[in-house]
Amino acid sequence: MTEKELLKCSPAELTDMGICPTCFDRKHNGAIFGDNTNILIYKDNDIECFFANNPRAQGHMCISTIEHYHDMSEAPDYINEKIIRYAKAFMNIIRDVYGCVRVYMCTMCDGPANHYHIQLIPRYDFEKRGSGNFVKPRQEYIYDKEKLDRVKELINEYANK
Ligand SMILES: [Zn+2]
Repeated sequence: MTEKELLKCSPAELTDMGICPTCFDRKHNGAIFGDNTNILIYKDNDIECFFANNPRAQGHMCISTIEHYHDMSEAPDYINEKIIRYAKAFMNIIRDVYGCVRVYMCTMCDGPANHYHIQLIPRYDFEKRGSGNFVKPRQEYIYDKEKLDRVKELINEYANK
């Protein structure tokens, strides 16, 4: 298949052909997942942080590794430590900016070529406590420039400390 034909494939089809859709998307400037400027919060050489484009709650975000790791068990310790440190910072930031009560954290990576990632899912005061928050129905992402800019500003302050 030519590159041009591959560009018309879905993420699932690319995965089935042994091509990582995330890397393919990066290489082709968002050809698969589209322009990410409305969701991207932070990026460095190790991790990338972005809002889920099909969130389980507004403010639902992911911290993902740049390199491929099956999951936490395969990632180097410094990456795992960094992800936990950023998750802690983001929990406070998301609570402040989105006004949720708590932020839940989960990770599950189970494809042939993974970018190990964790998910941070807000729980709001109108929602029940408990594990049901991990499987709340997916919603449409609502782009809010003011909130996105504030989250970016706060995490950059943290990253540059
Ligand atoms: Zn990849």
